[in-house]
Amino acid sequence: MVSRQTKIVATIGPACESVSAMSELLAAGVDVFRLNLSHGDIDGHLERLERVRTASALTGVEVAVLADLPGPKIRVGTFPDGGVEMVPGESIALVESNRGSSDTEICVDVDGLFSGLSKGDQVVLGDGNIMLEVDSVTGGPVSAKVINGGRIQGSPGVHVPSERLSASTPTAEDLVFAEKMATAGVEFIAVSFVRRADDVEQVRQVVGNRAQLIAKIETNSALADLVHIIEASDGVMVARGDLGIDCPLEEVPHLQKMIIRECVERGVPVITATQMLESMISAAVPTRAEASDVANAVFDGTDAVMLSGETAVGKHPVVVVETMSRIAERAERQASYRGWADRLGRHQRGDWTSVEDRITAALGHAASQAARDIGATAILCCTKSGRTARAMARFRPEATLIGLSPDEQVVRSLRLSWGVDPLTVDLYDSTDEMVWYAVEKAVDEGRVQHGDTVLVLAGSPGGTSGAAADVLRVVQVA
Ligand code: ATP
Ligand code: MG
Ligand code: MG
Repeated sequence: MVSRQTKIVATIGPACESVSAMSELLAAGVDVFRLNLSHGDIDGHLERLERVRTASALTGVEVAVLADLPGPKIRVGTFPDGGVEMVPGESIALVESNRGSSDTEICVDVDGLFSGLSKGDQVVLGDGNIMLEVDSVTGGPVSAKVINGGRIQGSPGVHVPSERLSASTPTAEDLVFAEKMATAGVEFIAVSFVRRADDVEQVRQVVGNRAQLIAKIETNSALADLVHIIEASDGVMVARGDLGIDCPLEEVPHLQKMIIRECVERGVPVITATQMLESMISAAVPTRAEASDVANAVFDGTDAVMLSGETAVGKHPVVVVETMSRIAERAERQASYRGWADRLGRHQRGDWTSVEDRITAALGHAASQAARDIGATAILCCTKSGRTARAMARFRPEATLIGLSPDEQVVRSLRLSWGVDPLTVDLYDSTDEMVWYAVEKAVDEGRVQHGDTVLVLAGSPGGTSGAAADVLRVVQVA
């Protein structure tokens, strides 16, 4: 039984890619595994996906998988194992070559990227931790001075001024990967460096309804088209690493709040990502600032918080998930979710939704109010596509929120949505049966006790996945 409502997304990497390591992470509370397709080859990721499904079967924990497309980001040649230390003041060569990088040279396999630089240009590596300044472009390779140093490993992204102007997303490679991952059955595919709704639509054309699409917000242009992007997506990620390079970094906390608010109002699950417990890549405890960051994301109303290098290459993947879980759970007790339903109830009178969405939203609003008035212990959402459960989640109800679907992939995908505890049910012929068996399932699974009052949201069984839930029933569990 889940008592934490904020969900945890964990990136799989060398530190946690065996079935046993994945099983431990599931036991520690991971809701969604992320495969970062920027690192390693596609076959390796398909194998990891297989191992996730094995770990899920072994532990009995349904977990969703998010495949994160690389996008047009340029990455440097891989640093030696264990990484290297960049010391401020030291010089380093910037070389166009397909070699690996080292402590004396940074290599990129892209012609013209470094040779087009001018003295004084800034080059940023990774999520912005390492900054270099070009100090010589004549006589031999381009040379740069380390301004902000630190340890760097793997094959981090590299940002040079205006590099993004020429790049567009999704890349041809992204579309190939999206097709493979959709065929393999992942629940979510994340589109990197989205700038407009159409970027998401292009991936949608390849993927159809086989997977849900997450737009990563990490460019300035995306902010200008944010509402359209959210409406074109099934989920959103506040990708703070690249966002903080594309925008002044002091904007990031405020953009995070704004993006989360826009998503919750529309019932689109939102993930807060990057550097949440970064120091735990090596340390066994987070900094106090990181603990506050996770708690503040919860206060902002995020559906999920994400771990990147902390689980992918960190020393303590299990401890980091447990730590994040504790911080989030504690923060939820303090969070002011109460006011949300009323505020959202007012907002939904806007004209930004379809009739079906408005019906589902109105029903959710009514249910959140009724649950409070009645003192219901649970709200059961019978949902084929997951939409009713997501629409209910946006009201952040205090009652236990259960999503019941006959579609296994939908059940797994609901692991991303705030507060939703998903269960699998059969396909029924009537609304009455749907309601009856939903309650029975919730009792069997120990989510609901005899004597409880619960609310059930359901629709007509013949309905396509486009039909809205249109029944709200109050059930006293005998
Ligand atoms: P993105 O921009 O997509 O977030 P990133 O380089 O920031 O890319 P993250 O997934 O956020 O990558 O962080 C994961 C860390 O783990 C990186 O430092 C990366 O180099 C390292 N890593 C190494 N191998 C893998 C792998 N197979 N999958 C994911 N991360 C890996
Ligand atoms: Mg990124
Ligand atoms: Mg990252």
